[in-house]
Amino acid sequence: MTSPILPDYVPVPRASLGPAVNDQGYYVGRVERNLYWVTDGTYQSAFLTTRDGVVLFDAPPTIGGNLRRAVDEIAAANGVTSTVTHLVYSHHHADHGAASSLFDGDVTRIGHEETRRLLARDDDPARPLPEVTFADRYTLEVGGERVELAWHGPNHSPDNIYIHFPGHDTLMFIDVVNAGWVPIYNTNLSEDVPGYMAAPAIALSYPWTHFISGHLGRLATREDVAVHQQYIADIEASAQEALASVNPVPYFMKYGENAWAGVKGYLDEVTERTAAPVIAKYTGVLAAADVYTPSTAFQVMQSIRLDLGYGSWVHP
Ligand SMILES: [Zn+2]
Repeated sequence: MTSPILPDYVPVPRASLGPAVNDQGYYVGRVERNLYWVTDGTYQSAFLTTRDGVVLFDAPPTIGGNLRRAVDEIAAANGVTSTVTHLVYSHHHADHGAASSLFDGDVTRIGHEETRRLLARDDDPARPLPEVTFADRYTLEVGGERVELAWHGPNHSPDNIYIHFPGHDTLMFIDVVNAGWVPIYNTNLSEDVPGYMAAPAIALSYPWTHFISGHLGRLATREDVAVHQQYIADIEASAQEALASVNPVPYFMKYGENAWAGVKGYLDEVTERTAAPVIAKYTGVLAAADVYTPSTAFQVMQSIRLDLGYGSWVHP
């Protein structure tokens, strides 16, 4: 057996890491008052303990059974019921919702109407359909607490919602900003790139101090969201520069009738030129800038070409 040759990357900044997880592999902490967050170091979930029951926000399968343990631990410490009565889906993706079926019985599931449609399509018994759906806004009131759910258009997914806790100075918004880290592949695997790029400004338009981003091991601040915004803006500016400066002709000359080889050679060069100054700027600032910036640079550059029409000159 031969070992694969694996690249080395720069170390993760300490500030990007969160608290240590316990022996069972989770950390649960108070966000504010009776709002708590849970992490396994990579995924995040949240819950509200109220006098009438617990409201759970997302159920990532990697945290899985530890959600129950975290809720039981906090409810016991506070002397309140540990019964989960409501579960809110941030969006339909399995990696944030596939532990939903662990909370059976009288749980009321709530989500965007598109979440319900997509979950019906995907037909996954681990993610039961939400019974309560909404189009633009929904106010959830449980045990004297209020949570404002809102949909402001597609971004990471078509159904991704903003979950605002006005009484807890907190916004939960999943899979757009990763606290202290760059997005993973292709703008965090986003379906609507212009929507993804506009979303942080919408998040910042809400009043909040604490931000639950869904990833990775710590909560985020307004500064984290602003740094992410600047990172994406820098990629956009760099992509425009690269598209304007790389000459496609040599690639198409070299590969002749193999048009796709010409396209690949040209766009790979544009991607590399887009990413290089951004990696240099964010190394030591955002974790994994050297790991994933080329992928996101490619996606943003494609959006500039295809969504904004940049460089799509009409043949004379
Ligand atoms: Zn997702």
